[in-house]
Amino acid sequence: MAKTREIRVTVWNENIHEKTHAEVQKCYPKGIHGAIAEALAGQSDIQAHTATQDQPEHGLTQKVLDATDVLTWWGHMGHGDVKDEIVDRVQRRVLEGMGIICLHSAHFSKIFRRLMGTACQLKWREAAEREVLWVTRPGHEILQGIDDHFIIPHEEMYGEHFDIPEPDETILISSFTGGEVFRSGCTWRRGAGKVFYFRPGHETFPTYYQSEVKTILLNAVRWAAPVGAMKIDCPHKPEMDWFAKK
Ligand code: ZN
Repeated sequence: MAKTREIRVTVWNENIHEKTHAEVQKCYPKGIHGAIAEALAGQSDIQAHTATQDQPEHGLTQKVLDATDVLTWWGHMGHGDVKDEIVDRVQRRVLEGMGIICLHSAHFSKIFRRLMGTACQLKWREAAEREVLWVTRPGHEILQGIDDHFIIPHEEMYGEHFDIPEPDETILISSFTGGEVFRSGCTWRRGAGKVFYFRPGHETFPTYYQSEVKTILLNAVRWAAPVGAMKIDCPHKPEMDWFAKK
């Protein structure tokens, strides 16, 4: 039997907090991208590499994107410095079938807002609150191995209203110590590509080392991997040929 090709993942991070905030450096000595890549390591069906904003073309050249099945995105301080041409390029790859997983403060990234078409604003409070993530789609591929809920002891609060288009699926809802709730796991399709937004992951908390979070990242990569590709800017040639024969 032919071996199924590995899912090629590019773990992207702006990698700014890690260089400027001692607290973040301490929490993520290899960067948030390093922690996420480690969470995806050791799987026979996944091959992950990292890319950061300070690299030429933000580490997202056409060659890199063409060889990426799933892109994970963490950004916060540097959203405005991401070049629009790179955002265009990533969006195009998503429409063609590349999966994208937008994490935590990536809700305000240019690429997420482009894919959503809305402002993507939300309420927030940085107070190390207890977050309970409740499963609202039991049996969903992204939630394999997750019980009916799990708890992150300390996280930043994100609260509704989260200004996103109605998700295809809302698979997790969070509640916080302060009483707010938030749609923490949401899926959409854009063109041939799958989009997953996953809320947790504030830079000063060790969230990406937590087992349930790592399980969800792994499941999400497998879920978002393309099953087919779509060519965009198709000139409708077959239809034209059909008319020409009439
Ligand atoms: Zn945050």
